[in-house]
Amino acid sequence: MRWSRQLIPTLREVPQEAEIPSHQLMLRAGLIRKLGAGLYTFLPLGLRALRKVERIVREEMNRAGALEILMPALHPKEVWEQTGRYELLRDVMFKVKDRQQREMVLGPTHEEIVTDLVAHEVSSYRQLPVNLYQIQTKFRDEIRPRFGLMRAKEFIMKDGYSFDADLDGAEKSYRSMYEAYQRVFQRCGLRAKIVEADTGAMGGSSSHEFMVLADSGEDGLVECDACSYAANLERAESVLRSAPSFADAEKDPEKIATPGLRTVEEVAGFFQSPPARLIKTLIYVADGKPVAALVPGNRDVNEIKLRRALGAKALELADAATIARVTGAPVGFAGPVGLSIPLVVDAKLRGYRGAVTGANEADAHLRSVDIERDVKVTEFADISFAIEGDGCPRCAGTLRAKRGVEVGHVFKLGTKYSEQLGALYLGEDGQKRPCVMGCYGIGVTRTLQAVIEQSHDDNGIIWPATIAPAEVEVLLINEQHAASVETAGKLVEGLKNVGIEVLFDERAERPGVKFKDADLLGLPLRINVGERGLAKGSIELRARHSGETLVVPVESAVETACARLAELKRACAPGGE
Ligand SMILES: [Zn+2]
Repeated sequence: MRWSRQLIPTLREVPQEAEIPSHQLMLRAGLIRKLGAGLYTFLPLGLRALRKVERIVREEMNRAGALEILMPALHPKEVWEQTGRYELLRDVMFKVKDRQQREMVLGPTHEEIVTDLVAHEVSSYRQLPVNLYQIQTKFRDEIRPRFGLMRAKEFIMKDGYSFDADLDGAEKSYRSMYEAYQRVFQRCGLRAKIVEADTGAMGGSSSHEFMVLADSGEDGLVECDACSYAANLERAESVLRSAPSFADAEKDPEKIATPGLRTVEEVAGFFQSPPARLIKTLIYVADGKPVAALVPGNRDVNEIKLRRALGAKALELADAATIARVTGAPVGFAGPVGLSIPLVVDAKLRGYRGAVTGANEADAHLRSVDIERDVKVTEFADISFAIEGDGCPRCAGTLRAKRGVEVGHVFKLGTKYSEQLGALYLGEDGQKRPCVMGCYGIGVTRTLQAVIEQSHDDNGIIWPATIAPAEVEVLLINEQHAASVETAGKLVEGLKNVGIEVLFDERAERPGVKFKDADLLGLPLRINVGERGLAKGSIELRARHSGETLVVPVESAVETACARLAELKRACAPGGE
């Protein structure tokens, strides 16, 4: 590849639209360009890197025995209606009509489509297990597309689906995908943290996310500083090592005037107490009935956990009228003492004494509330989010809060979709049973950007050798110097002959511009060919990740570059190879 014949529109300035480093660098290095909100074109070098990620994904799926297929992106809406997800995913699905006014959707995911396929093509236990995957474009109408490929409206995903005869088989399929994912991300040069996750709208029984830690990540997680426990915030459990005790714990509840003070900060300030001394009382409506959820003042209600604790289908915060009716007070003054609706109390409030709560009366709070003495608790349950400093649920360690980007997700789906769509098989005993499913996703375009988010410096991208758009850049410092031109040309040929992908920067540009672009684009190795070195019969070999520069005799340059590159690739090999 000659730079002058390529389309590599590098930018000196940081584009205003890009907020996080990886997005800025993908634009600046000329890898992608924006068409509209959440819509990007891959330019030649961006596409080369993307194809390498896809190849790694494909190789690891095939190695694990999964079979590649390609399903349509355009679906008749009826398939989606069969599972009720036409309604459930209404907001994220792009809907279109064909010329006969038939309603169709652009697929945000493919559980329904693949299960419908298996329902038609698989009928006997002899055909199981089967694991099907595709690498394909998905469409989601994101409310706020941002961060480039991290949250786009159109993106490439590897989605895979396993069908087994029973739970044991499904567990094996799940393990095999879990391990394949570890290999995929290692080979892409990514350090991905595996966290326990909630199954959310997917249904199913358990799931893990592969997260890339990054301050810009949109997902919260906690990890233990002592053991391997890690979970996303929706799912994370945690413990309090001891119940806190606050001032005046021995006294009876006492009403204190707190005119106009509604927020935790305002009330805590008034009582000169930490926010944890407050008990927040939130009124929800669960399946049409009001309930109160109590959490410590320094924590938020985790509605996923609350809904599970209540066994409720629908859950929403009560409106002001309902709150007034249930508590007798305006919003901001609800408290648990004397409430006659069911009270779900966060397990971390067990043993709480000397707490401050709303008084169910405008402009008043109660102090010296003892949760077990003064409150009619319906149920203690874990209904709050874990926070930094909580105890680990698995060991004596402490949880640390982190942010991350989800690059992969594996789910045990169970039989929800196979029952709804009739993916049944005839067992050895002649009985019909639903296939036990798993589903497995990798955000391919997101993975590419996550690599850059994790691997860059102030000067640009630092590509892992396995997915770099090219492996070596040969940089001709002065294109007017005949001996340099000749040597650089020979080096490029020599590298190509041993199978190395070379980008040859032979542009008529100032050396400073070429050096800056080289660092920005960040190929793993760079060979500088210049007059001064050639006078001594040598070139410079520079490693992008370490900044280390070797002076190498011209005749051994190809060999040295090969050896260095092999080392860099080994660094991305899955463990034990
Ligand atoms: Zn632990």
